[in-house]
Amino acid sequence: RRWIADTFTDTTASLTGDQAAHLARVLRAEPGQIFDVVANGFLHRAEITSVSDSEVVFTLHEELEADAALPVHLLLAVFKFDHMEWGIEKATELGAERITPVLARRTEKHLSQAAAKRVERWRRIVREAAQQSRRSDVPTVDDPQTLKAALQSVSAETKLLLAETEQENTIAAALQQASQSVALAVGPEGGWTPEEMQLFTEHGWKHVTLGPRILRAETAAIAGLAICSALL
Ligand code: SAM
Repeated sequence: RRWIADTFTDTTASLTGDQAAHLARVLRAEPGQIFDVVANGFLHRAEITSVSDSEVVFTLHEELEADAALPVHLLLAVFKFDHMEWGIEKATELGAERITPVLARRTEKHLSQAAAKRVERWRRIVREAAQQSRRSDVPTVDDPQTLKAALQSVSAETKLLLAETEQENTIAAALQQASQSVALAVGPEGGWTPEEMQLFTEHGWKHVTLGPRILRAETAAIAGLAICSALL
C-alpha cells in the first residue's frame, strides 16, 4: 500500500486522520518501521519517527516513484542530428522503452557515416531526459543499424509503420489491448523507399496514419508516442 502524506517538507512527511489512526491502531506501527509514502507527487521509502493516533511522522528516504516505461520500441530513421536529438529527448520523456536508430536508404550519406560516433551523445541525452522526467529506467539506445537488422531485432506484438501515405488505419484501431507492446517506425526526411516499405510488409508491419498533414519525423515520433501513451 502507498500512504499519501497530508503534509510534507523536503525530508519529512506526516499522515493524519484515518491514515494515522489505521497505522497506529490497526497496524501498530512503531518508530523505525519503513513504509512507502507519496509526498509531493513522488513515492519515497519513508521511516517512521513518531506515532500517535492522530499523526504519524516519517523521515523520507530515497525516491521510488517513476512509472514503468511505456512498452514502445521506436525505430527512428537517422535524420538531421539537431532535430533527431530533440525527438530522442522527447521520446524519452514520453516513456519510450527502446530507440533504434536506423540507417535508411534516404538518410543523408554524411549523417549515416557520422551516426556511429553520435550514439554516445544520444545515450547521454536519454540518460539526462530520463532523470529530468523522473523515470526510474533509462531507455536503451541501440547502435545505428540497417533497416534489415533493426526489423529482425523487434519483438513487439504490434508493429506500426507511421506512413504519411496511409489514410485510414490509425494507432487507436491497431491497439486493441492496453497491455500490448508496440513498435513504431518513423522514416527519414525523404521517407522510406519502396524497397524498405516492402521489407516492413514482409516483417508484418501495419501502416498507420497520424492525420492528413505531413509531419516532420521528430513530430511524427512524438505524436505516435503520445497516442500510445494515452492508449496503453
Ligand atoms: N516523404 C515525405 C514527403 O516529403 O512527402 C516526408 C517524410 S516525413 C518528413 C518523415 C516521416 O514522418 C515519415 O516517413 C513518416 O514515418 C512520418 N510521418 C509524417 N507525416 C505523417 C503522417 N501524417 N502520418 C503518419 N506518419 C507520418
